[in-house]
Amino acid sequence: MVKKGIAFLLVLTFVFGFSGCTTPQSTQSSGEVEIIVEEETIVQGGNDVTSSNDNVNSIISDPQTNEQTNQQSNQQTNEQTNQQNDQQTNQQSSQQSSQQSNQQSNIESSQQSDQQSNQQTVSSVPEDSSQDSQPEDTNQEPEWKSHPQDFKLLAFTFDDGPSNNMSRLVQLFSWYEGTGTFFVRGNSIIDDGSYIAMQSAIDNGWDIGNHGDNHLVAKIGGVNGGEATYDEIKADITNLTTKLETNLKTRDGAPYKVNLYRPPNIKPTENSFKVCSEQNLAVIWLKHDALDWDKTKTYNDRYNLFKKGINTWQDGDVILCHETGVIACDDTYKILEQLLPDFYRAGYRFCSISELMQMRDISVDEISGELNDVDGNSGMVTNIIDAAKAGKK
Ligand SMILES: [Zn+2]
Repeated sequence: MVKKGIAFLLVLTFVFGFSGCTTPQSTQSSGEVEIIVEEETIVQGGNDVTSSNDNVNSIISDPQTNEQTNQQSNQQTNEQTNQQNDQQTNQQSSQQSSQQSNQQSNIESSQQSDQQSNQQTVSSVPEDSSQDSQPEDTNQEPEWKSHPQDFKLLAFTFDDGPSNNMSRLVQLFSWYEGTGTFFVRGNSIIDDGSYIAMQSAIDNGWDIGNHGDNHLVAKIGGVNGGEATYDEIKADITNLTTKLETNLKTRDGAPYKVNLYRPPNIKPTENSFKVCSEQNLAVIWLKHDALDWDKTKTYNDRYNLFKKGINTWQDGDVILCHETGVIACDDTYKILEQLLPDFYRAGYRFCSISELMQMRDISVDEISGELNDVDGNSGMVTNIIDAAKAGKK
């Protein structure tokens, strides 16, 4: 009986000790999402996108209108979320254990589907991904990075943070030995916690890119809805770069250099390119769109879009997702939670844009400024490798 009691205590110690390890490396104070909503209160008529074609040239209609409308409709949800922040600690720990068990069941179900299909797989999901939700040792590179040529590299990007979602995305991708890129905006940075979250992302191998200090939409953000001036665009980009470079360091402790820019609502002008060229910033567009900003899409629409990507998305493709500020960030998170194991098994790996460039021997110079036309994309980067081939104008 005593032995049984001791054994039980040992089990309890293990279980609670283990779950104690699942605390995210960084958390952020609450209320950021509300700030974003307050700062963007313009509501325009819905400019619905009806095409379900994932060809990016046909789906980019007007992300700004949708983003703003979605932010408005998201306000209620965000407020509810904020009201629940008192329970955050408990929720985080139960979320993590539920993520862990979801992950286990996702892996099991995709293992079953793997057995059913003859799909060729490159390797299995990391063994410890279902057992340990703690991000890996930040100083230890995964083995696959010693032979990146054996994999198709995807650059997942997440816009409009920093937010409370940043740390859970870092954690999710760490389960699959992966990273990505956050395009942050200055008006989402609310306090030191925002910088702590971004620094933690960098320390885990992620990039922080510039998405505008005030999310200035160059094409319509000027006086009376006209084009913003060169000076306005320059200020919007430079002010955020200064904030980021002042407050962040590389994972090695060196000064952080911002070299990526995503134009807000993907509406740059010639002046945007001019500023980016002068500042050696690569202008990053997208090859695939999670459509988490599009209120006309359902969860299944979004799921199928990602599902179709397995085995069809190309080495070097850039994928646009949102970290916060749009209607379906949670859809994107859940879909990635379900499908990243399948992407992994199909021979994909996930990396920040700078990691991708490093592994494919591409320098920022090769993809910065205005590029020759790639896929009719107005000179922005949709695939890092294609962009390097296209070169500068
Ligand atoms: Zn944005």
